[in-house]
Amino acid sequence: MANYGQHYSTTKTPQREKAKAGQKENNAGGFTFVLDKWARLDRFLILGADGGSYYASEREMTRDNAKVVEECLAEDGSRTVARIAEISHSGRAPKNDAAIFALALAAASKDVPTRTSAYTALKLVCRTGTHLFQFVRDAKNFRGWSGGLRRAVAAWYGDKKPDKLAYQLLKYQQRHGYSNRDLLRLSHAEPPTPQHSAAYRWTIGGDNAERSVLNGKTKQARSYGPIVVDDIPRLLRAYDQELKASKSPKETAKLVREYGFTHEMVPNEHKKSPDVWEALLEKMPQTALVRNLGKMTAVGLFKPMGTATKKAAAMLADLDRLKKGRVHPIALLSALRVYEQGHGEKGKLTWEPMREVVDALNEAFYMAFDAITPTGKNHMLALDVSGSMSSGTIADCPGLTPRVASAAMAMVTARTEQNWYVMGFADHFIKLDISPKQRLDDVVRKISNIPFGGTDCALPMLHAIEKNIDVDCFVVFTDSETWSGDVHPFQALKQYRKHSGRDAKLAVVGMTATEFTIADPSDAGMLDFVGFDTAAPALLADFARGEGATLPSKEEAEDVE
Ligand code: CA
Repeated sequence: MANYGQHYSTTKTPQREKAKAGQKENNAGGFTFVLDKWARLDRFLILGADGGSYYASEREMTRDNAKVVEECLAEDGSRTVARIAEISHSGRAPKNDAAIFALALAAASKDVPTRTSAYTALKLVCRTGTHLFQFVRDAKNFRGWSGGLRRAVAAWYGDKKPDKLAYQLLKYQQRHGYSNRDLLRLSHAEPPTPQHSAAYRWTIGGDNAERSVLNGKTKQARSYGPIVVDDIPRLLRAYDQELKASKSPKETAKLVREYGFTHEMVPNEHKKSPDVWEALLEKMPQTALVRNLGKMTAVGLFKPMGTATKKAAAMLADLDRLKKGRVHPIALLSALRVYEQGHGEKGKLTWEPMREVVDALNEAFYMAFDAITPTGKNHMLALDVSGSMSSGTIADCPGLTPRVASAAMAMVTARTEQNWYVMGFADHFIKLDISPKQRLDDVVRKISNIPFGGTDCALPMLHAIEKNIDVDCFVVFTDSETWSGDVHPFQALKQYRKHSGRDAKLAVVGMTATEFTIADPSDAGMLDFVGFDTAAPALLADFARGEGATLPSKEEAEDVE
């Protein structure tokens, strides 16, 4: 008798063949499900396209994702802009670049309400001068200077209180081919107060500053008139008259304490002084702190068991400062790796790493994710360590590949949950000896040393069947470029449910900004998350905790018979 079942089955399909309607061939030649455009928008906003991936260049990936943004804008412009603003403003993404790029696309939309909402969101997304320069650079790739763009840029400066404006003007003077001077001129910004007027003139060129104003469509040069010194914001005046004239590091340190100058404003010749850095440290914003740990150690401010070392360590692991400064866990992981190696990626700066600082960075990494309430469920944390996970970089951090980064992220769940098991897979099971009890640099090192291989994303479920492991939630960190197995991951999950009698769930943590996922969208027990979303571990816990949503429907239950 013929056994057709050996040739065709709906419960066991090789990954190189389509197993269900809606599946699509991935970059590796396997078939997977695809995300809808809104889920793809989230992936792009959070993961970006830095350095491309194993399969696509940064350029290809950016173009691909730009199309997704455009599709979202075409379907619902205000929803798209709201999502861009929300992801950016909440600090869920390691970098703001994708949000700025997407907002620039929205600002170039043919739809007027979409453009208007993009301009309204400008202040939420572009929080620093650097963000604004980047936005204008991106926007200029899609459009010229229109009235709307001018007004939005002018309002960015004009709506700030004079002291906040002065801080921005000094801290972020130029970047991405633009300066404040350029933008104030190009936007024809009308100063709303005498203090703004003085600050604009200070930026554009002092007493002789001219601005062009629009009279209908023609530009006219008009003098601002002489500067009234008393109108110049205090910080700018002190910068000109006192900081620039400072003769010694001691004097600079005093001025830093008095006026709150940041390290960007301090003269270079005084930046080798531990006294200056000690003064800077007192009110240092969290991002600057994370970025200057090596420098402060190199100049001798940080010593083992020293006062400044302890102060910096306490500031690093301060939840309030982390949240207010929107410091992303990836920035902390990256800083930990660089600091711990004792030298910068570029340049000649070297230092002896302080234990206190390394430990504080390790703590801060976990704190920077949204708080998780433990679920008590059994979590199988499965890391795709195949070759494709080792290309591309997360948030431009050298050496921080999706594979390495996903291991750190898995530790967030492992640290909170009592019941977890971690495994690796490529096209075979890989035992992983990592734990949140280890420091993250050790975890990263262990993962970096695993040899590469092909990809079979069904392995976590097959392994649990083979070893009779009780799992409530499989958490698979992957790029979903699976191809080598002879059963699809969603089928393996159904097999596991049948085998174990448990309503196990599958959480897919997507690590690259593509459309692919191994989660079957028609099964409520499978869900996608975005790698490096600061909200992901908490959302994942909600999903693992949720009850009832995953009971297989009658047809599905029959499906696995
Ligand atoms: Ca792979």
